[in-house]
Amino acid sequence: MRQGGTCGCITAAMLVLGMALGFHDPLDRELEVYGNQKTDEFIHRFTAKMDGMTNCRDILGKDISKPKELAVIRKEGLIFQKCPRAINISIELLEEMLEDHLKYVTENNISLKDIPDNDMQSILKKIIRNRHFRRNVNQLLFSSTREIGFIQFDIRKFKIINDLYGEKFGDEILDFIEKQLRETCRENQFFVNLRSDVFMVVMEYDLEEELVTFIRLLEQKINSFKSIKLQMAYGVYTVDDRNMEMRQMEDRAAMARKAAKQNILSNILFYKEQFKESLYNRKFIEENMQAAIAERQFKMYLQPKYSITKNEIIGAEALVRWQHPERGMIYPSEFIPIIEENGFIKKVDYYIWEEVCHFIRNCILKNVACCPISVNVSRVHLQDNECIQVLSDLIMKYEIPRNLLELEITETADDPQLSRKALQLKEVGYTLLMDDFGSGYSSLNILLETPFDMIKLDKKFVENMMVSSKGRIILEQVVLMANQLKLGILAEGVETKEQIEQLQRMGCDQVQGFYYSRPMPNETFFTLLEKQNQ
Ligand code: C2E
Ligand code: CA
Ligand code: CA
Repeated sequence: MRQGGTCGCITAAMLVLGMALGFHDPLDRELEVYGNQKTDEFIHRFTAKMDGMTNCRDILGKDISKPKELAVIRKEGLIFQKCPRAINISIELLEEMLEDHLKYVTENNISLKDIPDNDMQSILKKIIRNRHFRRNVNQLLFSSTREIGFIQFDIRKFKIINDLYGEKFGDEILDFIEKQLRETCRENQFFVNLRSDVFMVVMEYDLEEELVTFIRLLEQKINSFKSIKLQMAYGVYTVDDRNMEMRQMEDRAAMARKAAKQNILSNILFYKEQFKESLYNRKFIEENMQAAIAERQFKMYLQPKYSITKNEIIGAEALVRWQHPERGMIYPSEFIPIIEENGFIKKVDYYIWEEVCHFIRNCILKNVACCPISVNVSRVHLQDNECIQVLSDLIMKYEIPRNLLELEITETADDPQLSRKALQLKEVGYTLLMDDFGSGYSSLNILLETPFDMIKLDKKFVENMMVSSKGRIILEQVVLMANQLKLGILAEGVETKEQIEQLQRMGCDQVQGFYYSRPMPNETFFTLLEKQNQ
């Protein structure tokens, strides 16, 4: 029977055993769990391994019910020093007992499938498979004279596949992959399904190419699954220090897998030290973004747009900055890709749009003629109708003329859905700017599909075009085309006098870039506008 002060590991293990082996009674949990033959066995084996100790007083050498002794336990860090042993022994025993149970089930021809479907049963099977896998890998790490590689992979957008085709179909895919792994893995090549769609293979090799060949072979087999093309992402860690904990090796393969998922050029990536940093960064952003909005850490910066001939400000672009109280200034390239993935960009954009409206209102109130200010509209907004409403509400709330708020959209592919959404925005009366033109993804077709008012030439495009005579001709023709189509044209990222002169000669009058001005806090921009007004 349970005594006060019994080691918590025992209680926890009892519950696990109870649930896994299906003998716990929810109405009388303690009696049932503690009075069972299996749990007696556990306590017996635990006591033997712990040299007769089962309660906290013995394990810690202090009595936790006495405040004085409790203070000593805390002061001397006794829990950290003495409890890990009990925890490790419990895990080891649990694994052994669960494995014995499975053996019993198999030997007596009780199929686990016959047992009513029960989550615990599948967890049980998983624990045992995992244990086998780890044992084999440890053995390999200990004895192999060849190199050892960890390959971890998963399916890109598996959640979407599950949502679209149903979980049963998702399970079918996982079974299929497992079957291919069983057929592909040879001697000293071990695999396991870690969770959901994440698999891992550990294998021997001599040259790194062998790992890639293995992956390609596996991929070919996986690709024979029905009509659907599965996109996989593979992370590889090649073991350089065999004394490292196996979990750490796994973590490294996992980091490489996550990086591979984001890489558009290759779906196989080998672990590099930098991954750790970028994962920390992602975690930092995800954990801090909510507070950043609540505490107004996001700041709107404005970068003026100039007319070369008039030599005056004709507009501005709003660019977000994250002023973190400890980390300092964080630039959009560090956090926008991450918050675009998790959808949080919507909140940040709404925030910046409101700041812009507020700024324009302020100019009106103070009788300073304001120029149009453009905001960036992430692609994420174009997936639903919310942004149109948000923009209308803001314009009403701050009573600003619609033509002073311009929208920058980056169209990265010919996408009819995006074009439709852009068309809707245009119909409501917004000025649409096509951002990053010539950055590699945009095509001339988009100009046909979507009613942009202006194109913004990407910095790289302008730079590249100016280095050769051929490039200059292309750039000239783009400017000519824009003029003929009555599209406005603005060159971004202009840094030098030579660029300004060339652009002017070509007929591109509007520019934005460090040559004239860097993005600045809104107060500074306001002062600039005031000066220009005088
Ligand atoms: P973008 O929309 O193409 O913005 C122009 C970027 O070029 C800005 O970088 C700006 O600071 C930088 N830039 C301007 N002139 C020069 C120059 O002469 N030389 C160089 N080297 N750079 C110049 P920033 O502010 O770091 O923003 C990067 C990107 O992040 C933006 O590219 C935009 O795609 C995105 N972004 C920024 N703010 C927001 C926002 O509020 N919402 C959304 N959705 N995206 C934003
Ligand atoms: Ca932009
Ligand atoms: Ca741009």
